[in-house]
Amino acid sequence: MTTLFARKALLPDGWTDNVRLTLADGRIAAIETGVVLDGREEELGCVIPGLCNAHSHAFQRALAGRTEQRSPQGRDNFWSWRERMYELAGRISADALTAIARQAYCEMLRSGYTAVAEFHYLHRDPTNGSGGDEMFEAIAAAARDSGIRLTYVPVHYERAGFEDPEPTSRQASFAMSCDEFLAHYERVATRSSDTVNVGIGAHSLRAVRPESLERVAEKAASGVPMHIHIAEQQREVEQCFSSYGRRPIRWLLENFDVASNWSLVHATHMDDDETTSLARSGAVAVLCPSTEANLGDGLFPLHDFLAHGGRIAIGSDSHISINPFEELRWLEYGQRLASQTRNVVSLRDSHVGSELFARALEGGAAASGQGAVGIAVDAPADLVALCDDDPMLAGHDDESRLDALVFSGYPLPVERVMVGGKWCVVDAVHVDRDRARDEFAATLRTLT
Ligand code: ZN
Repeated sequence: MTTLFARKALLPDGWTDNVRLTLADGRIAAIETGVVLDGREEELGCVIPGLCNAHSHAFQRALAGRTEQRSPQGRDNFWSWRERMYELAGRISADALTAIARQAYCEMLRSGYTAVAEFHYLHRDPTNGSGGDEMFEAIAAAARDSGIRLTYVPVHYERAGFEDPEPTSRQASFAMSCDEFLAHYERVATRSSDTVNVGIGAHSLRAVRPESLERVAEKAASGVPMHIHIAEQQREVEQCFSSYGRRPIRWLLENFDVASNWSLVHATHMDDDETTSLARSGAVAVLCPSTEANLGDGLFPLHDFLAHGGRIAIGSDSHISINPFEELRWLEYGQRLASQTRNVVSLRDSHVGSELFARALEGGAAASGQGAVGIAVDAPADLVALCDDDPMLAGHDDESRLDALVFSGYPLPVERVMVGGKWCVVDAVHVDRDRARDEFAATLRTLT
């Protein structure tokens, strides 16, 4: 039993002063408000619930800053970036994956994410061709070492495109038959634990045949988190229309029972009908603003989607940045730039930072299959303690504190982070930072 005293805590009803949290078995067992510090508790400043990073390709952490040079041919875009990414993916062994993912997960914790949904399609170790579960083990080891709560989302990949039934040689380490993939899923599904949840997914409509997508979706019918990339690029929308006679999101909604356990990653290119229908389906749109900007994807129709009841989560995807507050800031800024207005995501709260944070918290929990969410009795003790005399928060009150976190681009005032009742970040440093950095640096030296 551990007790914490927070001078302020963000409870489901809002900021509350002088809160005592009693933790047991990694969960919040009791919450008392308006208490007096009795000297036995650990004293903290402002405590907020940790966010879920709902879309991660951990291995791409090794690519940050390495794709920003114009190619000799020019006209760089998502597809030319993808060639650079494949080139890296083709050299990531299971050991390298552990080192890279561990670094990324430590950085996530340090910035206030306490959970991650790892969208994983590197199913084979390209250095030895083995196709067992080593790459899953590598991700699970990185999560365990860092302390982050993991939703492992194995993702099926079987072909190069709508009209290309075979994978390319560069996709060889992703591709599996649907039987092989489902056998992998069944094996890892038995490995779920207090801190590891298992979802399932398909890479995209272009990479998976409709018959296989049906078999994958069937496994998720009981409510397992089901993830898919969709409509990220215009070219994909055009190819889908030409092969299936429908735009991707329209085709998916017409052919599958897309429900609240589905997470559609990006969903960038939607017409008005798709926007309304997807919002009404209850599915979560997982938005990754820093990566979507980096890759030149386009802009999600956020205001209309939310106005029709849509749910959103955020992810750092390719990890060119790992900072949930920056993702939320750019989510709003994209809309401001496009609409030439301000304070766009203020449909249920006049404070944009508060609304963005609440939506990302709820949507992230749904995308990762986490039942209880927030600082509530029986919810996991996944907490972020902010330094309340940090300049970023100085002078802010309960109304504007989350606006300050989202809209001030200064060093984050994250002082301590706890997952499942264990401190992973203390005094603004991940408890295993040095080992993570050393092994990441050594791995990068061998890769580059
Ligand atoms: Zn992705």
